[in-house]
Amino acid sequence: MKFDNLTQAVASVGMLQKYYPVIRIWDASHKQMLYESEKTDNPKKTSISFEGFLEAAFAIRENGSMLEIVTSVPITINGQTCLLELIHLGDRRTGSASLEHMQRLAITDSLTDLYNRRYIDEQLPIDLERTFRNSDPVSFIYTDIDYFKKINDQYGHIAGDHILKEIACVFLRHIRRKDGWVARYGGDEFLICLPEVSRNTAVQIANRLRHAVESKTFYINDIQLKVTCSFGVQTVYKTSGIHSVNQVVETMDKKLYQAKKKGRNKVVI
Ligand code: GH3
Ligand code: MG
Repeated sequence: MKFDNLTQAVASVGMLQKYYPVIRIWDASHKQMLYESEKTDNPKKTSISFEGFLEAAFAIRENGSMLEIVTSVPITINGQTCLLELIHLGDRRTGSASLEHMQRLAITDSLTDLYNRRYIDEQLPIDLERTFRNSDPVSFIYTDIDYFKKINDQYGHIAGDHILKEIACVFLRHIRRKDGWVARYGGDEFLICLPEVSRNTAVQIANRLRHAVESKTFYINDIQLKVTCSFGVQTVYKTSGIHSVNQVVETMDKKLYQAKKKGRNKVVI
């Protein structure tokens, strides 16, 4: 882009201001800032690299507490080579917070806010390994909503989603963070992991959950609905003969299947 003078250049780039909060124009030969659309803590002239000024470039730059996301474009003003910088600003602290946010999102089920399948795949081997290393047991409760398809068919998918969220809330109310973790395995299946919890205690917890779901009245608009879940409980000890994640999943699956066969709304050990 070629301009006769600075005023003309500023007038031309002015329309970009709604897209870029900060626009700067530098005189490349004298490393001098000719124009800045918004007052900022100006970067030191020396922090600007003019080496590649003949080509458009993209950079992320720290400027005090701010992050500058910069697109640089060479322009000519009155025959002088200049650099046009189009800048988005970000807060460095917010930047790191959003990284944590992204990490949290990666392991969270978006519908229920429980942990998701990715978290299960990462965390389950860790909890199993701890059991193999120490003598503490780890208990798993695997559960699936009974006749959930009927709810979808009768009241619609959004109503089904609402029931999934409500069931997740019931589980979270009973399992404190320090007791273990609750995840959505997929569809209408949930997995609860209880480190250092014995078989007897796990069965008690599963029965408490079964009863909490059974006795709750769910609402879809004004319609009252009763829902139940089936449960399989698997406790792994150092010497229980279970050595892998696959074995854990297989045994839990079988127990859940038995709970369904026994008439649903059951806990199978
Ligand atoms: P069973 O008692 O044997 O478990 O019967 P069921 O009808 O619950 O059968 P199943 O567990 O196989 O069905 C799960 C259904 O869950 C099938 C699928 O349409 C539905 N589903 C899976 N994910 C979602 C979701 O995110 N939202 C809703 N609304 N439905 C889902
Ligand atoms: Mg089901």
